[in-house]
Amino acid sequence: MEVRAKKALGQHFLKDENIALQIAESLTGLTPHVLEIGPGMGVLTKYLYNRENIDFHAIEIDTESVEYLHAHYPSLHVIEGDFLALDLSTLFAEPFAVIGNFPYNISSQILFKVFDNRNCILEVVGMFQKEVAERVAAKPGSKTYGILSVLLSAFYNIEYLFTVHEHVFNPPPKVKSAVIRLQRNDVTSLECDEKLFVQVVKTGFNQRRKTLRNALRQLNMPLDAVPETLLGLRAEQLSVSDFIEITNSLS
Ligand code: SAH
Repeated sequence: MEVRAKKALGQHFLKDENIALQIAESLTGLTPHVLEIGPGMGVLTKYLYNRENIDFHAIEIDTESVEYLHAHYPSLHVIEGDFLALDLSTLFAEPFAVIGNFPYNISSQILFKVFDNRNCILEVVGMFQKEVAERVAAKPGSKTYGILSVLLSAFYNIEYLFTVHEHVFNPPPKVKSAVIRLQRNDVTSLECDEKLFVQVVKTGFNQRRKTLRNALRQLNMPLDAVPETLLGLRAEQLSVSDFIEITNSLS
């Protein structure tokens, strides 16, 4: 029972101190306000906690880990709870950075939450399953390019930093991991209906093997004003600005 419960929390503790340090050092210091998601037994926390001028908070869902953190990092502000349920608008007075060796079972949900909170999240440094990291960092034309690549790259510069082997975790996950960094670009508005943009991206990739002419039928909107050249392509071939153009020609 206990083991199953922990497994559901996506707990894979990092054993390699050098990698922990490398992740902590990948934060560029754009902002002193930092939130760590899922610190677990504090392997990353250790390298952030004592930094000068850092305004550091952490959120951890597992009670046992929270108790450990209280004992070892007495002045750390740890929120016991679920990051996905956390109201980010009240946490810091200013935009902040997010860091973590994230729970892999909620990777996509974490990234969608970053997208939704793009105006208060300046930077993300995080470890994900390698496949998710590759998808986020993918460029148009590649097979892994997808919904999160488009949505996040509209507002963030994304870098794939390094790959991490499964043997540096306890217990080892089934897949390799990778660390990526997202830094907020200076785009404040996409200059289109952003809700519709998200819908167009999601609908386009929903049937990614189809041309957009066919995939976008599901929107039930007239496609007459969409340039023919774009309708003949598949979602994975389109840049952010192509998706913006489509959105504007629909509305
Ligand atoms: N950062 C640690 C632990 C990584 S494992 C290390 O590198 O060793 C992922 C951590 O996220 C676990 O501690 C798990 O309890 C925590 N976690 C899982 N789901 C969470 C959620 N929804 N909100 C906050 N923390 C969560």
